[in-house]
Amino acid sequence: SGELMKGKRGVVMGVANQNSIAWGISKQLAAQGAEIAFTYQGESLERRVRPLIESIGMDTMIPADVTDDASMDAAFAAIKEKWGTIDFLVHSIAFAGKDELQGSMVANTTREGFRRAMDISVYSFIDCARRGAELMPDGGAMICMTYLGAERTVPSYNVMGVAKAALEAATRYAARDLGAQGIRVNAISAGAMRTLSLAGIRGGKSLMGTGRDWSLLKEDTKMEGVAGAALYLLSDLGQSIAGEVMHVDAGFHVVGVPDLPDE
Ligand code: NAD
Repeated sequence: SGELMKGKRGVVMGVANQNSIAWGISKQLAAQGAEIAFTYQGESLERRVRPLIESIGMDTMIPADVTDDASMDAAFAAIKEKWGTIDFLVHSIAFAGKDELQGSMVANTTREGFRRAMDISVYSFIDCARRGAELMPDGGAMICMTYLGAERTVPSYNVMGVAKAALEAATRYAARDLGAQGIRVNAISAGAMRTLSLAGIRGGKSLMGTGRDWSLLKEDTKMEGVAGAALYLLSDLGQSIAGEVMHVDAGFHVVGVPDLPDE
């Protein structure tokens, strides 16, 4: 533990259970002195999330469905009422239907499925950037979570890859719009990790295996590494970084061809 986040307050959106990336990030931020308000998707998650946040000495849990403007209005009003201003925001939210996360992107992407994936996984970040920035009059930092499927094709990732490409572009535009206010907006591109979301992707387990076997470090992406990058970007260590997509994937993203068999 340390004091890199001492005196900083912020919002973490997207803890669903103990495997959530948002949770890994939260533990590290709290260990460095951050105060965190958590938003969660709905009542059914409250019972699972409450003990987690209490275990790190936090108690603020606010329901927020990113598809519902009234819910988002209420959530950010509650945060404003609690603290007045914030210093950081973590967006760790995405969704696409199971039917879309398999087989052919061309065949399986319905208009409604596309709309929902883009709304929950991309528009929500733009919306949070606007709402968050209103609470950051003295500057701050925001991050969202992305994946290599934005840049390269990945089996089954499909419409989510399209959404992540848009999310990465939204990160750059938000960074541009908010930079002059001293708000740094960045994205972390994490390697495949065993979470609820990964379980929704056909062949998700094999994605993890390939990520590990092809990676430069020959290991799975570690939650502590992703959380460390979040800490870096959200603390003053990352002070000159804006509009960046930082890869935390054991070097997988630079590999064009995997190791060749011995001849
Ligand atoms: P997760 O399932 O634990 O987290 C996803 C979160 O999104 C959940 O907390 C869920 O409640 C929330 N969410 C979905 N719809 C919502 C809505 N309408 N309103 C509010 N919240 C909603 O899985 P995760 O892997 O921790 O995913 C977090 C982020 O990390 C996502 O953006 C995901 O795409 C990204 N990511 C994951 C991986 C991986 O391999 N797991 C890799 C790179 C990036």
